[in-house]
Amino acid sequence: MTAFRSKTTDNLNQYATRPESTKNAEAMPMDTEVYESPYADPDELRTSTVDRKQLILEDGELGSGNFGTVMKGIYKMRKTEKQVAVKILKNDDNNAAVRDEMLREAGVMQQLDNPYIVRMIGICEAENLMLVMELADLGPLNKFLQKNRQIAVRNITELVHQVSMGMKYLEEHNFVHRDLAARNVLLVTQHYAKISDFGLSKALTEEENYYKAKGHGKWPVKWYAPECMNFFKFSCKSDVWSFGVLMWEAYSLGQKPYKGMKGNEVIQMIESGERMAAPANCPPEMYELMKKCWTYKADERPGFNVVEPRLRDYYYDISQ
Ligand code: AMP
Repeated sequence: MTAFRSKTTDNLNQYATRPESTKNAEAMPMDTEVYESPYADPDELRTSTVDRKQLILEDGELGSGNFGTVMKGIYKMRKTEKQVAVKILKNDDNNAAVRDEMLREAGVMQQLDNPYIVRMIGICEAENLMLVMELADLGPLNKFLQKNRQIAVRNITELVHQVSMGMKYLEEHNFVHRDLAARNVLLVTQHYAKISDFGLSKALTEEENYYKAKGHGKWPVKWYAPECMNFFKFSCKSDVWSFGVLMWEAYSLGQKPYKGMKGNEVIQMIESGERMAAPANCPPEMYELMKKCWTYKADERPGFNVVEPRLRDYYYDISQ
C-alpha cells in the first residue's frame, strides 16, 4: 500500500468558494488550533511509533470497544503537547488475531490525513499495545444529540456536511469505511465532527472499485446497502447508503434507525422499495438527499462527490 498525506493547506482549499456572507460567521474548525494536524509543524517529526515516555495516561475511560478501553492521555512532542485518546488492547486479548486487527486499523488510519477524520498519532508498544489518536472530547454524535435536543438544524447540517467532506476524501483516495454510522462520528466541539473507527475499513485497488467480503460477518445490517447484503460488495457507494442512515440518525437527534425491527425485516423492507420516513422537523431538502443515498442500485446512487456539494449548498443557504 502506498502511503499518502495531503498537506493541511490542501484541505483549506475546499473553502476557497466559501461565500462572503458566511466568512465572518462564528469560528469554523479550520480557524482553530484543533483543526491542525499534529504534524503541521515540520519540526515535529512524523513517526508512526510513540515512545511510552512521551505518553501520559489520565484517569477515566472515554469509552470501550471490541479491543478494550479508550482512555484520555497527553502526548508530549518536542515542542508542544497534545491531548490524545488512547485505545488500549485488553491484556487477555494479546492474542495474535485481535492484535493483528488493531494493527490493521492503525495501518489504514496512518494513511489518512483529513480534518474530518480522526488522525492516528502512532502505535505505542508498552505494557499493552496502544493506538494513540487525536482526541474528540465530546464523544459519539448520536449520544451528543440525544443529550442536546435543543440543537439547531443548521448545526446538525454543519456536522453532517463535515462528515460528507471526510467521506469525499476517503472516496477520492479509494478507501471504504464499511461502518459509517452516527456512533462512529466523534465530536471535537459542537461544531466540529470527525469520522472514526476504521476497524472494518479497506483500501481498494486501482483495478477494483469495490471490496468483496468472503462471507457474512457481525455486520451493522441497518446501515448496509442491498449489494452488501446480497453480494457482499462494498464500495464508496455503499458508504453513501450508510451516510443516508447517518443523516437520518442526525436529524432524528440520535434515534435508532428502523426502531424495533430485526435485521431480516429491514432487508425485506428495503427490497420492497420502502424507506424510513422523514424524522420530525427534518428539512425536506435533507430528506430528499437521504432518499437519494438510499437508491437501490449502486450505479444509480450518487457518490460523495455529489452528496458533499449538495450539503454544502444547503448549509450555506440556511446560513445566510
Ligand atoms: P471504538 O473502539 O473505536 O468503537 O471506540 C469506543 C469508544 O471510545 C467510542 O464510542 C468513543 O466513545 C471512545 N473513543 C474512541 N476514539 C476516541 C477518540 N479519538 N476521542 C474520543 N473518544 C474516543
